[in-house]
Amino acid sequence: MDSQEKLEALGVAAQYDLCGACCNPKNDPKAHRQRGHMERWVYPAALPDGRSILLMKVLMSNVCENNCLYCVNRRGNDQPILSFAPQELASLFMRMFYANLVQGLFLSSAIFKSAVQTMDRMIKTVELLRYRYRFQGYIHLKVLPGAGISQLERAVKLADRVSVNLEAPSVSRLSKIAPQKRFSEELLSRIRLLSRLIKQANHGKRYGPKGQTTQFVVGAAGESDTEILGISKNLYDKLDLSRIYFSAFQPAVGTPLDGLKPTPLLREHRLYQTDFLFRRYGFSMEEIGFTEEGNLPLGKDPKTIWAEGHPEYFPVEVNTAPKELLLRIPGFGPITVKRILHIRTEHRIRSPDQLKRMGAVIKNASGYVLLDGHLLGRSQSSQLEIWKPEPVSFGLSAVPLPV
Ligand code: SF4
Repeated sequence: MDSQEKLEALGVAAQYDLCGACCNPKNDPKAHRQRGHMERWVYPAALPDGRSILLMKVLMSNVCENNCLYCVNRRGNDQPILSFAPQELASLFMRMFYANLVQGLFLSSAIFKSAVQTMDRMIKTVELLRYRYRFQGYIHLKVLPGAGISQLERAVKLADRVSVNLEAPSVSRLSKIAPQKRFSEELLSRIRLLSRLIKQANHGKRYGPKGQTTQFVVGAAGESDTEILGISKNLYDKLDLSRIYFSAFQPAVGTPLDGLKPTPLLREHRLYQTDFLFRRYGFSMEEIGFTEEGNLPLGKDPKTIWAEGHPEYFPVEVNTAPKELLLRIPGFGPITVKRILHIRTEHRIRSPDQLKRMGAVIKNASGYVLLDGHLLGRSQSSQLEIWKPEPVSFGLSAVPLPV
């Protein structure tokens, strides 16, 4: 099989790894699964600085020593064995780069023979790109469970983004879907060390040009959203993760979990919305509403649920409210709030059209906003009658990270 054919096959196999950069400002649940229309191994991605680029997303190898129950590359799965040599992959990437098909690389792998050996081949590939081909662009390097300490140091030095897939929120949940992976020793300990190395590389700053991400498979281990979000909040707060990705479990044919029901994409979407509330709106875990089962209600977005549960904050006068309160209004995003803060230094905001032009979603904000003293949308009393909060409870805290 020639390199191009391998790229086709190993690019398809890489679709289950969500790239650290594969995110979109609108948090569209399907967006990170999209591939470029040209080739199956090209994935559109948004960089942390907002730029959009095309990544070559590919596996070094599709043969794994592990036996994760949801994975198409698990040991014993009946498929042709494919693997790149470092030089082969590096030169192939550069050809695609010079042909202007891609601008960056996302490199992951199944564990071929051993984690350390596979990681060596991945690092070698990136070294060739950085030192032989002088490639300065974006590289995201997956760190495999069980990778060595010196390999982590090398990965942080070479790549813009690194990631260890945590997959599940606790030891017991992980053992249900990936019995060979050791949650604390192989995964969390690596995330901790990467966090320290990245901070050093960013000259002591929590966030800088280097960063790390992680990923959860949602719904395969029977975990609740509270469990996933609890550990996610701690990973952001304590270990400075740049992003966390949620992948709704979709059963793959031929795997032990192929009879399990798929997780609704809407659940994944609600997790992303809550993640956004943590990172961009300053919400705490205690402010998120959960059902009795510890899940996010699917019927409404988490910010609206918070607003419905806290009528004492509303309506908010757009012309005078502080930034923190403006960010709490349903239908107002960080960009809209930034524009409001700027515009109101020049003149008062009086009409819904002005708000709309600044990016506000008027139907969501209706009933929560005063425009120069006038309630936007329905009258406040009728709005209060319409509010029928779903049975949710607030006040759950994030559990500490296991040692
Ligand atoms: S470690 Fe698990 S998830 Fe990763 S490739 Fe191997 S079997 Fe799949």
